Amino acid sequence: MGKIVAVAIPKGGVGKTTTAVNLAASLAVLEKRTLLIDTDPFGACSLSLGFTKEKTHGGLFEVFNFTHSMAQVIHRTEIAFLDFIPSNVHSAQMEERYMKLAENRTILKNSLRPIVPHYDYLILDCPPFLRGLTTNALTCADSTLVPLKSGHFSLDAIDRLVKYIDWIHEVANKTLEFEGILQTMYEPNTKVTDITERELKLRFRKHMLQTVIPKNTQLVEASFYGKPAILFNANSRGTLAYLQLAREIIGKNQTVLQPAIAEIQGQTG
Ligand code: ATP
Ligand code: MG
Repeated sequence: MGKIVAVAIPKGGVGKTTTAVNLAASLAVLEKRTLLIDTDPFGACSLSLGFTKEKTHGGLFEVFNFTHSMAQVIHRTEIAFLDFIPSNVHSAQMEERYMKLAENRTILKNSLRPIVPHYDYLILDCPPFLRGLTTNALTCADSTLVPLKSGHFSLDAIDRLVKYIDWIHEVANKTLEFEGILQTMYEPNTKVTDITERELKLRFRKHMLQTVIPKNTQLVEASFYGKPAILFNANSRGTLAYLQLAREIIGKNQTVLQPAIAEIQGQTG
């Protein structure tokens, strides 16, 4: 069964889309069957992967409208193990309808169910607000990956996310876990970074990922050219950091599985 990871935090411009796209590409390069899903009506994942409206044959909009199945809107990408589902929202009217349909917080979970077993990882890029699409993503996800850019407002956003996850645990998804907090656009030795990091370690030490994503202009350029960073410059610091993140996440999930396997073998062997 594939693991569903929602990249979410109620704050704009902190690196959610950059993380979703480049983590998904890195997992795929490491030969994990990966599906990237853009839940954000803004459609930044499509832009980052070079999917113009003309190259798109449906997306979540059509799935939520019951005109297409999830399988019908899967797009192949330039990376063999990476598939993509866009939101495919192209006008204010479509956005209004899409947001209305997403008020049903299980619509994504129900429509995704048949394709989850075909992937190792399903990465959901969320919009910078909690209601609607993020609620849908957190309802069906196994874990949340939280990108965080240094600064006071980011800490405030993480507090709001934690409270929201408590509510999700109660009403929609008891088993949702923290994949981890990922520091993005990281600039070492600045006062803001030092203060943010100190505060994070104080409150969320056990959830902080070891990998940090440095501030790196090649990540911005890659998305501008409609490519994941690994296809733009395989050796840039940004590319290497996202590969390291993919390895860290794969490693974490293996260590979770191993004791279970050992337990089963111990019982049967
Ligand atoms: P939104 O909430 O609007 O969807 P987001 O959280 O998805 O935003 P991104 O779109 O990924 O954030 O990033 C915001 C901007 O910062 C983009 O221009 C992106 O190219 C840039 N950016 C992201 N990560 C980095 C990085 N590590 N170094 C430098 N620039 C970055
Ligand atoms: Mg985004």
